[in-house]
Amino acid sequence: MESYVLDDLAKYHCFECDNEFILSEYQVQNTTKQIICPYCHGQDVEACVFLDEDDDLLYELGCMGMGHHENPEEAAIAYEQTWGMIKEIREGLRK
Ligand SMILES: [Zn+2]
Repeated sequence: MESYVLDDLAKYHCFECDNEFILSEYQVQNTTKQIICPYCHGQDVEACVFLDEDDDLLYELGCMGMGHHENPEEAAIAYEQTWGMIKEIREGLRK
């Protein structure tokens, strides 16, 4: 899809449990929630290493990369293709 762009990535350090995790900077900028550690739910976290479009490694990540569609219609189509059926199956299993 043409509007798909790779997001810059940031590695975060948690000063409560000393673990690290990687987030999309685009998602971080567009969330209304506070960023917390996914391991201990600690709030004392800080971005410490950045990977942006100037670094070839960003493009070598392939499916491990994170990105988003700038066109919302393409985003909806891509979501349905990728997650629609999986979501239906998961919801069916819960019933
Ligand atoms: Zn933590």
